[in-house]
Amino acid sequence: MIIVLKQNANKQKVEDLIGGLRERGLSINYSEGSHTTIIGLVGDTSRVDPEDLEALEIVEKVRRVSEPYKLANRKFHTDDTVVRVGNASFGGENFGVVAGPCSVESEEQVVEAARRVKAAGASFLRGGAFKPRTSPYAFRGLKAEGIELLLIAKKETGLPIVSELTSLDNLDLFADVDVIQVGARNMQNFDMLTELGHCDKPILLKRGLSSTLEELLMSAEYIMSGGNQNVILCERGIRTFETATRNTLDISAVPLLKQLTHLPVIVDPSHATGIASLVEPLSKTAVVAGADGLIIEVHPTPQKALCDGAQSLTPDQFDKVMEQVKVLCKLEGKRL
Ligand code: PEP
Ligand code: MN
Repeated sequence: MIIVLKQNANKQKVEDLIGGLRERGLSINYSEGSHTTIIGLVGDTSRVDPEDLEALEIVEKVRRVSEPYKLANRKFHTDDTVVRVGNASFGGENFGVVAGPCSVESEEQVVEAARRVKAAGASFLRGGAFKPRTSPYAFRGLKAEGIELLLIAKKETGLPIVSELTSLDNLDLFADVDVIQVGARNMQNFDMLTELGHCDKPILLKRGLSSTLEELLMSAEYIMSGGNQNVILCERGIRTFETATRNTLDISAVPLLKQLTHLPVIVDPSHATGIASLVEPLSKTAVVAGADGLIIEVHPTPQKALCDGAQSLTPDQFDKVMEQVKVLCKLEGKRL
């Protein structure tokens, strides 16, 4: 981190600042030029808030030269993190596919979806029991009953389950859920992230609708700094000016995140596009871009779905996607 001081900054105040920073364990490089005086901070600056420094009357501006996230940073952890759940894994050579309905609607629906996605080669069943919806009048999930139905599908098929937590008030209901999903709208629910840092389950953290990659990684850092290192990142499309698709899949986020972090990165082509026919091409694109997995919405009868029918695949369509994904995974050296 570099601090640029104001011209004619009060010498005593500069010394006080330097003393305070040294007390925080940082080494100081002080460089006084004819026009500009700068203080270079060497050491772990993750706990130094640039805005606190910029508020000082002697400081002109502050620039970060290293990333504010440490635990998620590939620089300090060069090997890929592999997140394991039973026999399924994400990361390293492992490619994980999560599939199932947007929301759990009935036992018949979720068990049928689970059987078909398992037969096609998916390693996890997804299904929302608590649904964050833009309209308060839309179907918002079966809640506790939805979790029970997911557990029935898990028992029937052996597939681990992934479901979204929308409020910490419901955390107790997730005791037998294998992976807790933090949805795009809660990516910066810092209390939720902090609490999930203390739990022993993997967290599937979806990128916020308008969040930068650095913000996504800082949210992962929240969870990791609480002790939970099992975080899976998900690119699920971001808001742009384009309205032809529900969101815009930021495919470059995948290889870039893989450079910045050791955490597994998966892609959600369903929410990224909102259009079922685009799920296959974008799933293939995700594999080739280096993703560690996919999360895809599949419904036995998408035309009757209570949520996100237009982007949901039929089980037959999902079979075809998986055939293609398997071929590409082999080419990319990924194990599915
Ligand atoms: C979902 O996966 O059903 C969902 C609501 O996703 P997102 O948070 O990415 O919108
Ligand atoms: Mn959905």
